[in-house]
Amino acid sequence: MNDEYGKLADVRERIRLKLKELEEQEAYLTNMLEGLKSYIVHVQGLLEKVKNSSSFQVLEEVRRLGDLKTRPKQGFFKMSKYAIEKELEEKLREAEKEQEELVSKIETIKQKKEDANVCPDCMGQGKIIEKWYEREDRIIRPMIRVKRCSLCGGKGRISFS
Ligand SMILES: [Zn+2]
Repeated sequence: MNDEYGKLADVRERIRLKLKELEEQEAYLTNMLEGLKSYIVHVQGLLEKVKNSSSFQVLEEVRRLGDLKTRPKQGFFKMSKYAIEKELEEKLREAEKEQEELVSKIETIKQKKEDANVCPDCMGQGKIIEKWYEREDRIIRPMIRVKRCSLCGGKGRISFS
């Protein structure tokens, strides 16, 4: 009984640590996601600005604000505008892809948090199947018994209360 109790305390401690680690990862990724969302809004704004622009100054300003590689060329407004739009669209695509990946990573972490307290002894079943053999004269009988998991008390999950 004492052993079982010590084991339960160990399992609880392990779950606590796992949850803490997962929460830290989630916080970190959520923070990154927030940053990425603001960046996407920023790039979308610049793209709007370029699409509605008819002056070289605006192209220069967008290039600076967006930290773009494309250099607008004096006297080639249309071409410069087109090149800047393409670069911004590419940045947007990359950021949106990264956003999707982050969202999916966060989902995975949430699922892991949900599963963190699944009982390691019965894998969430709440019961344990015992198999053994009994010998009677020359006959060997396979025996089977389903018993309640003692670690989780049959709940399938480790409770903390
Ligand atoms: Zn169990």
